[in-house]
Amino acid sequence: MNPMNPDHILTRRDALKTIGASAALVGLGALGDRALGAEPAAEKNQPFTLPKLGYALDALEPHIDARTMEIHYTKHHQAYINNANAALKDYPELQALSATQILQRLPQIPEKVRTALRNNVGGHANHTFFWSILGPQGGAGPSGALASALDRSFGSLDAFKTQFADAAAKRFGSGWAWLSVKDGKLGIESTANQDSVISEGAVPVLGLDVWEHAYYLKYQNLRADYVKAFWNVVNWPQVAANYAAAMG
Ligand code: MN
Repeated sequence: MNPMNPDHILTRRDALKTIGASAALVGLGALGDRALGAEPAAEKNQPFTLPKLGYALDALEPHIDARTMEIHYTKHHQAYINNANAALKDYPELQALSATQILQRLPQIPEKVRTALRNNVGGHANHTFFWSILGPQGGAGPSGALASALDRSFGSLDAFKTQFADAAAKRFGSGWAWLSVKDGKLGIESTANQDSVISEGAVPVLGLDVWEHAYYLKYQNLRADYVKAFWNVVNWPQVAANYAAAMG
């Protein structure tokens, strides 16, 4: 049998786990308030395409400027998509997999294409997720089960924000800061490049792109100022939905 055939590598248990992770990952189309009460969008399979934004490119001003959003979304994210689709072109056995499934199975991906998929499917998944947890009405902060869980896990919302900002600040070079759920527990970490916490068996709840392309036009070298501004544009209802989905 072909070990890369998705029918063979995707067990029923994996499939169920994947559905939860996908719903959390791709809040797509489910951006902003429209996410609330809506069925989680099924993750779109290949070829990968640029997801629609739930807000205008200038909607996150002044915290994330329109020019940065335009380049980040239409150029950087699109490039990850183009590269991922190109890398997958000669691997029909991988084309039935979602981005989440590929990132969960990197060790099983043919070595020749593994790094390209880690970087570019990772880039696509991470950016798709990032757009979904941003929104123009971000000031309110978390509520409900997520707020309680943040208090329980980190002491307080402020303590959580401090630890998250620390992870973002200390990621040397390019990468991401994450709040994610693994084994039923919330945790903060950072990853290098376009590595995803999905590859570590976690489900992302909140993520922040700390590549310079995400902030350099407005903030130049001042990553900490960008991280501070980020809190003004967090789509907390979507983050809460991600947490609920991850906790199943
Ligand atoms: Mn980016």
